[in-house]
Amino acid sequence: MHEWALAEGVVVSALDEMKKNGGTRLKKIRMRVGELQRLEMDAFSKGLEAAFYSHRPATDSVEVETVTEAAALRCRACGKEWLFRDSLETLSEERAEFVHFVPEAARAFLRCPACGSPDFEAVRGRGVWLDSLEAE
Ligand SMILES: [Zn+2]
Repeated sequence: MHEWALAEGVVVSALDEMKKNGGTRLKKIRMRVGELQRLEMDAFSKGLEAAFYSHRPATDSVEVETVTEAAALRCRACGKEWLFRDSLETLSEERAEFVHFVPEAARAFLRCPACGSPDFEAVRGRGVWLDSLEAE
């Protein structure tokens, strides 16, 4: 499962980072999850549990904090950057909901607020990162 692989990746990179700094017990990790990263949080949490379990004892009790990173879009025509959620406010509720669940559909409905071009890209808001960690 995609979520499990991501969770394992986060835990392994946290442990690498911890070891580089001489730590032996992971106490806390803080992750950033992009708003456009469609992550099944339930599956991701279970994946984290499994990853922590398989890397004991360094991961006996780890606190996990997740922050959502707001997605930003950039117009390829004029360079304007804006927040994805600001765009959603300009759409009808029905369309906003659709775009929220299918970000790829954004292109069909959204336009650059500065020049009206439909040619834009996501510059932030995808992926899962390890933001910081605490260890001892
Ligand atoms: Zn533009």
